[in-house]
Amino acid sequence: MNVLVINAGSSSLKYQLMDPQTKEVLAKGLCERIGIDGRLTHKVPATDGKYEFDIPMPTHAEAIQAVLDALTSPDHGVIKSMSEIDAVGHRVVHGGEKFSASVLIDEDVMQAIRDCVPLAPLHNPANITGIEACQKVMPGVPMVAVFDTAFHQTMPKSHYMYAIPYEYYEKYKIRRYGFHGTSHKYVSQQAAEMLGRPLEELRLVTCHLGNGSSICAINRGKSFDTSMGFTPLDGLPMGTRAGNVDPAIIEFLMEHENLSAAEVINILNKKSGMLGISGVSSDFRDLDTAVEEGNERAILAKDMFNISVKKMIGSYIAEMGGVDAIIFTAGVGENDRSVRWDICENMEYLGVKIDPEKNKYRGKQMDISIDWARVRVLVIPTNEELMIAQDTAEIVSKLKA
Ligand code: AMP
Repeated sequence: MNVLVINAGSSSLKYQLMDPQTKEVLAKGLCERIGIDGRLTHKVPATDGKYEFDIPMPTHAEAIQAVLDALTSPDHGVIKSMSEIDAVGHRVVHGGEKFSASVLIDEDVMQAIRDCVPLAPLHNPANITGIEACQKVMPGVPMVAVFDTAFHQTMPKSHYMYAIPYEYYEKYKIRRYGFHGTSHKYVSQQAAEMLGRPLEELRLVTCHLGNGSSICAINRGKSFDTSMGFTPLDGLPMGTRAGNVDPAIIEFLMEHENLSAAEVINILNKKSGMLGISGVSSDFRDLDTAVEEGNERAILAKDMFNISVKKMIGSYIAEMGGVDAIIFTAGVGENDRSVRWDICENMEYLGVKIDPEKNKYRGKQMDISIDWARVRVLVIPTNEELMIAQDTAEIVSKLKA
């Protein structure tokens, strides 16, 4: 079965055509500048081919059409016709409390995704546009929505509630939702395979550390707690996001800097985190270079990041009453050995100890703990697209059965 995985943003659209059984990626790419002019980058892993085109994309529908043309092109295509695409899996950021698993898209599901727009005003409209564009260009092809929030719907109420008047939960559904669910779920499954134990027996802390970062306590296969909250702004300091701050700072800044609430939230989303503290960059590679040069604010930014992750890991271990493995994934978690080392330093008392030699590797699935460590520390490259493709295939094959 070939599944086309779509991740639609407001002016961009990422895609991968893959076989979820063999895990082979036939083609992948990116449409950019949708609604402006339009640019397609198309890659074919089997031949190492990379193709770039300027194609007018006034809307997402033209972008999807450009993707289909690229996939079926006699020159750089990988399938003969659109009929070789059996299903489409769409990444959808917010499924609210309605969706605790991936789901076949029908009109009721579309309405429910629209109902979640107030919870994710930047992301869900783009996801909806992507789905509608696909439906227009590929009528009759079954489509599945895979939600970033769904995996976290198993959190106990005491973990997902904010201690504000209860009526705001009832009225507006203000609560912790958590994000990166597809990634946390994927790496937890991979971890169980690596450890050779059933997921239902394991207590895991998964650290998705990238430009956006979140941590998840996964208790016997179920999300038990997670660091992102009502929005992805909560939790750890990130590339440009502040993470947890005292909410009184918002009013203070509005008053003293003469800013609106939206302007302060924009600062907390786009100008804070590693960028805001270091003044150098949101990118950990740039931060690492600055740290090597002795830049004090870059050192401070990374120290703040590492200690926040460590604190969160510690609290999740306490919540679960123990841990079998800590998993690092995403751009920073997979690649930045100094981050992994600093986070796990002085945790021998918990049975955590990284082997400095094994920690030298980058982007490779491996156990980096020393042999005697009771708690395994694993690096597992995430693969959200594969997870989306597998969920999609599972749902669509039931349909055909
Ligand atoms: P992601 O959001 O998962 O794509 O992660 C993106 C982030 O990963 C980038 O902003 C970089 O900060 C970080 N990253 C990628 N490669 C490396 C590397 N080799 N060393 C350190 N950080 C890296």
